[in-house]
Amino acid sequence: MSYVITPPEQAAVPVAGTSNLFPVNRVYCVGRNYVEHAKEMGFTGREPPFFFMKPADALVVVAEGSTADVPYPPGTSDLHHEIELVVAIGTGGRNIAAADAGKHIYGYAVGLDLTRRDLQGEAKKLGRPWEIGKAFDHSAPIGPIRKAAEVAAGGQPLSQAGISLKVNGATRQSSDVSKLIWNIAETIEHLSKYWELKPGDLIFTGTPEGVAAVVAGDLLEGEVQGVGGLKIRLV
Ligand code: MN
Repeated sequence: MSYVITPPEQAAVPVAGTSNLFPVNRVYCVGRNYVEHAKEMGFTGREPPFFFMKPADALVVVAEGSTADVPYPPGTSDLHHEIELVVAIGTGGRNIAAADAGKHIYGYAVGLDLTRRDLQGEAKKLGRPWEIGKAFDHSAPIGPIRKAAEVAAGGQPLSQAGISLKVNGATRQSSDVSKLIWNIAETIEHLSKYWELKPGDLIFTGTPEGVAAVVAGDLLEGEVQGVGGLKIRLV
């Protein structure tokens, strides 16, 4: 038997400091997971975590120290940046207890959850799914994956690290992953109740406050302390 068309390329992210690749299975994203961002989106209180997905081929892999060109997507006039800590799952499982979550983490990366906010807003209003606002081509730039042991001590999930994003040199988002409403361990616990996590899954953990529009020509520089950086130019 042979394929009737060329099979799609396996999405993969380089592992920092090595010549190895982390093959990507699914890309999960957590919505409204920092208090101040939830507020700016019009919500208060600790609602249960909720999830959406992006296709793995929406990733734009950005090599360490380089700047990737990312096309401004069609159909929007309100493209927003959302800088996020990304967790890479190395060992899968169902019903993972928060206390065991660290054992399932391969590493961490810096990612951008690019969002067509106007289309997402329309979908919300009409009770429609979010894919058109969230899961479009090139919507998930990501930097190299840093191994968990190099980022967080003692096998525990990363609980504290500055997270920031500059646009054209000016800081737009600045927070700390300690401010996640649902921390990494709790997120893995919730997610694995509804889906079986698989090696290769990525989890975009949510963005802090300060999301705003970007336009073609803008230079976006994200960072999570101890994890790495991410640089893209919208073209
Ligand atoms: Mn997001």
